[in-house]
Amino acid sequence: MTTLLSLPHSPREFGFYLDGAFHGGRPLFERASPAHGVPVSRIPKCTVADLEAAVVAARRAFEDRRWAGLSGAARGAVLLRAADILRRRRDEIAYWEVLENGKPISQARGEIDHCIACFEVGAGAARLLHGDSFNNLGDSLFGMVLREPVGVVGLITPWNFPFLILCERVPFILASGCTMVVKPSEVTSATTLLLAEVLAEAGLPNGVYNVITGSGRSIGQALTEHPDVDMLSFTGSTAVGRSCVHAAADSNFKKLGLELGGKNPIIVFADSDLEDAADGAAFGISFNTGQCCVSSSRLIVERSVAAEFEALVAAKMARIRVGDPLDAATQVGAITTAAQNDTILGYIARGTAEGAQLLAGGQAVDLGRGQYIAPTLFAGVTPDMAIAREEIFGPVLCSLRFDTVEEAIALANDTVYGLAASVWTKNIDKALTVTRRVRAGRFWVNTIMAGGPEIPLGGFRQSGWGREAGMSGVEEYTQTKSVHVELGKRAHWVTG
Ligand code: NAP
Repeated sequence: MTTLLSLPHSPREFGFYLDGAFHGGRPLFERASPAHGVPVSRIPKCTVADLEAAVVAARRAFEDRRWAGLSGAARGAVLLRAADILRRRRDEIAYWEVLENGKPISQARGEIDHCIACFEVGAGAARLLHGDSFNNLGDSLFGMVLREPVGVVGLITPWNFPFLILCERVPFILASGCTMVVKPSEVTSATTLLLAEVLAEAGLPNGVYNVITGSGRSIGQALTEHPDVDMLSFTGSTAVGRSCVHAAADSNFKKLGLELGGKNPIIVFADSDLEDAADGAAFGISFNTGQCCVSSSRLIVERSVAAEFEALVAAKMARIRVGDPLDAATQVGAITTAAQNDTILGYIARGTAEGAQLLAGGQAVDLGRGQYIAPTLFAGVTPDMAIAREEIFGPVLCSLRFDTVEEAIALANDTVYGLAASVWTKNIDKALTVTRRVRAGRFWVNTIMAGGPEIPLGGFRQSGWGREAGMSGVEEYTQTKSVHVELGKRAHWVTG
């Protein structure tokens, strides 16, 4: 039995999703599979007027309380039905994710399982969302803190995990009672549109989830500037994140959730299980071809074992199966865009020019079609090199060395980012000291990229603002209202 799926015979045309219906009639953007070079989907280039209509629909659906007015249990029931439908459509959605993104099918299926869990956790969160009360204000005053949905949310997602990042946000936005307009990356819009089908079948009222497709420069920018969008959740580059802050300031001070870039350290002490840590390092940079905001791209390794450890990682990298992502055996698929492919190859050339030593990979992999890059390890990297400082967003690991715990912490913090970090040691003192002192929103001890939607995600420093997933993820899409209730007769101010 073959484990290689076939390509579609012709590209599938999608409609954009507005107020409970799919619409066509716009010019189309044709997306080619980055792994195969053949067209797979056609996506509408929506107009700013379409965006306007979507914000109006989302506003109407919010203000008439068709969603926010339901009980948490009723909202949760829709999310649980969506989880069931996703379970049924798992392989189909994973297939479209592979065609547009280039990630391996086995990985994509695992990601859909994670997305199902996001909907289940979101369903629970809808039921558990609550405010607070103050019973300590004296006998004449009672205080309550209500949590209310922020309103209309604009959601902009990137191309590296089109469905996973979407599902780490949508169930939590829905749990809060908000409505939304989603703008996926133009190159990976299919699965965001498929989610519209799933949510409609699950019973989500019209107008609550709208998807407007098109480029970041047109639709994305207009969404960030829109004066009737109450909150913007943006996941993508730090540069565009900065422009979201300006757009919010220049429009209506919309609330912002920002999940941005990273240059994440993996710190390996001599007393760690070096085989485990080497596997973690190879996985941490090669998973999703390193096009991952939490990719561990800076190896910070104790000098006494550095040469041995780098050799272990290089040997692991050489055994990673780079191949056609429609093959179930493939571990590393294609680079998602031609521009990103050029960027990664450019950084590899720069690393060599800067004097770093190539221990693994360092070149494109020719599979006859599509764009692939071998997992790459540079040793002898110094903190001033561009490959050590800038987010490459590809399978390129840079090795830096340290002698003391303090030096390891200083190297790990020597970045403008603060998204994720990992430490490998059998010594509990070192593990916890490093965990406390390294500035990162997500931390792994003797593991990497582990976790589920129960635990919040987000960054320190220039990696972003706010948290997604878990109870924090729902609360992010609410605002609090402090209510003061006088009990009994008021003590009068105007007397006499
Ligand atoms: P990007 O260029 O910033 O694009 C992200 C999204 O923003 C896409 O939907 C894009 O649309 C849109 N966009 C582009 N220009 C825009 C503008 N001027 N105004 C509004 N929206 C605009 O980032 P990317 O290259 O897709 O993704 C890679 C980056 O995302 C990396 O830096 C990575 O670290 C970061 N990331 C962070 C996380 C996290 O959770 N922290 C997760 C994943 C990725 P088009 O693609 O259609 O142009």
